Amino acid sequence: MMSSLHENVLRQFNKASDLMGLDANVRKCLATTENEIVIHFHVKFADGRIEVFTGYRVQHNNTLGPYKGGLRYHPKVELDEVRALATWMTWKSALVDIPYGGAKGGIQIDPAQYSQDEIQRITRRFAHDLAPFIGPERDIPAPDVNTTAQMMAWIYDTYKEMGHENCLGVVTGKPLVVGGSAGREKATGQGIVFLIEEWAKDNKLDLAKSTYFLQGFGNVGSWAARIMKRSGAKLLAVEDASGAIACKKGIDAEALRTYADGNKGFIKGFPGTKVITHEEFLATKADIFIPAAMESQITAKTAPLLSVKLVAEGANGPTDTDGDAILTERGIALLPDILCNSGGVVVSYFEWLQNKHSESWDLEDVDAKLKKKLLAAYGRVKDTAAKHKTDWRTASYIEALSRLEDAYKARGFFP
Ligand code: GLU
Repeated sequence: MMSSLHENVLRQFNKASDLMGLDANVRKCLATTENEIVIHFHVKFADGRIEVFTGYRVQHNNTLGPYKGGLRYHPKVELDEVRALATWMTWKSALVDIPYGGAKGGIQIDPAQYSQDEIQRITRRFAHDLAPFIGPERDIPAPDVNTTAQMMAWIYDTYKEMGHENCLGVVTGKPLVVGGSAGREKATGQGIVFLIEEWAKDNKLDLAKSTYFLQGFGNVGSWAARIMKRSGAKLLAVEDASGAIACKKGIDAEALRTYADGNKGFIKGFPGTKVITHEEFLATKADIFIPAAMESQITAKTAPLLSVKLVAEGANGPTDTDGDAILTERGIALLPDILCNSGGVVVSYFEWLQNKHSESWDLEDVDAKLKKKLLAAYGRVKDTAAKHKTDWRTASYIEALSRLEDAYKARGFFP
């Protein structure tokens, strides 16, 4: 039987907790989510019809700061998934040392079935009903799968119209003109590339001569590919919800982005490439695989197909615990999600700081600060992995959990 995503998170958590000897009381607190908000809300559309939607916000932990994490719009969004994703956000913020807890939310919806006007109504209605539970010092949503800067602007505007003053920091990932930050849109992709570059340096891989393949061509995947292009690495294959394409000579990420923009976001049919199966895609011989789509892609079934040196996780939770064991056994290195894709939330933090101080930093500043944060976290994970003789996912967890444990101990437990 397939186990749930949240069970998978707990297995990762238990492994690290055992290895580091995490305090038993802290362990009890971190094993559960704090608040789980489920909202069934109706929306009235321009043609007069009413539809009812289900939205979620799970707040896992706020020991280190306000709850923080994205909102996704996807037909498969449900409570167990959001619970897992919220928990990962707590670990992610703790690992990269930003003053946030973890949350995640979303609406169970296929956004492709709705017009822009309808998405605006749905977003504003959800923001309205979610308003009592969020706020710049309470819980701060951001973009995630299928959500954009535009939607963050609508959430901010709705929240503000409800009478909240001085509340730009209620969401991050906003458009520049609505208090967004330079570099936020590309931040997750940029972070992935900073970390791959560091790993390549450590492992004497010449990126200019390297090859990689990519799953997912949304915000994270397409930015990672466009930035990877500057390093000279060759993109051999890409997969999205419309299928997988490959080209031995390399796929131009910029041209693919332009093509997908005119093709409802999909990569299918990109000239000069051939269509391959999912299995062929996974078996692509390359130096690096970047999964940047959905969860549970690298499993007991698929991990044996991979033929790479490094998996750099752009998605949240792309590898389950069985997949992890196989990667380790096969000597495939891993940049785990909570490290590898943390660039997004790090620049969200920079955006929130800029909003607090009515500042706007330039792109060079943001990129330099992002790089510094990520490379520091990379160094800590590397040292912890060596110290505990463990894999990088477990080492990342140990780093994150140690910070949380210290904070719990220093604060004590309110009865
Ligand atoms: N959705 C992104 C993530 O999973 C960004 C979250 C944020 O910026 O709060 O990390």
